[in-house]
Amino acid sequence: MIPVVKTIDEVRKYVNEWRRAGKTVGLVPTMGYLHEGHRSLIVRAVAENDCVVVSDFVNPTQFGPNEDFESYPRDINADASLCEGAGASIIFNPEPEEMYDNALTTVSVAEITSGLCGKTRPTHFAGVCTVVSKLFNIVKPDRAYFGQKDAQQLCVIRKMVKDLNFDIEIVGCPIVREEDGLAKSSRNTYLSEEERQAALCLSRSLKKGRKMIEDGEHSTEKVIAAIRAEIESEKLAKIDYVEIVALDTLKPVSEINVPVLAAIAVYIGKTRLIDNFIIE
Ligand code: AMP
Repeated sequence: MIPVVKTIDEVRKYVNEWRRAGKTVGLVPTMGYLHEGHRSLIVRAVAENDCVVVSDFVNPTQFGPNEDFESYPRDINADASLCEGAGASIIFNPEPEEMYDNALTTVSVAEITSGLCGKTRPTHFAGVCTVVSKLFNIVKPDRAYFGQKDAQQLCVIRKMVKDLNFDIEIVGCPIVREEDGLAKSSRNTYLSEEERQAALCLSRSLKKGRKMIEDGEHSTEKVIAAIRAEIESEKLAKIDYVEIVALDTLKPVSEINVPVLAAIAVYIGKTRLIDNFIIE
């Protein structure tokens, strides 16, 4: 069975041994409750590196006070099977006390963290950047793998790596969806059957928006209105945001004539879901 490693020291022992043998190392940071989306990152990491560490840590510092840290789903045994099946080398599954021993240091990226998810979750990205920096220093990977599902996170991590000169290649991976279009997410398990159906309004609205742009629509306002209308037609859905931003700055654009990210966050009942598409 794949080793489930609980301490930083033990991870370092594995990695040092691999390094001595001249092996390359990939890292896939996750919060566990792994699904096909995570699996696609692990499979890619295994294809591109000799050894792969999957971190499996529900990071308390990236949750706000009224968010779902306590109720976030956890199943380390199922995660271990998935990681083993995908060919990972070890799972790093620390307790919060192992990661945060009276820590006073945080890493935060300015500007690009204030819009989109940062508006509703003002402390989220500092939590993400801090834990990812720590994982980078613990594992010292050659490459680290992130999903486009969390497009703002991917953009923020790329900026952090550039600004802080981490010598790590960041690999972005496409969104994996259910057959009916819903983006896979550990949080989908919160949805009742009725909410699960309602949640299809996210991917459906984005599909509409993308088609408008592909058919030549340049007005952000019109595309956003169409996406909002599609979501608002679903009675269980409540929009957090619908935005179209420049892919590099994450600032809103009025005309779609540069690479853009169309990103949405929608409450389905109490569950907050996100989805997006990119037009290069
Ligand atoms: P999480 O466990 O939700 O923090 O996600 C860990 C990593 O898996 C992040 O880089 C996510 O973007 C990525 N991920 C989550 N869901 C998907 C998905 N449906 N498709 C691709 N990547 C995903």
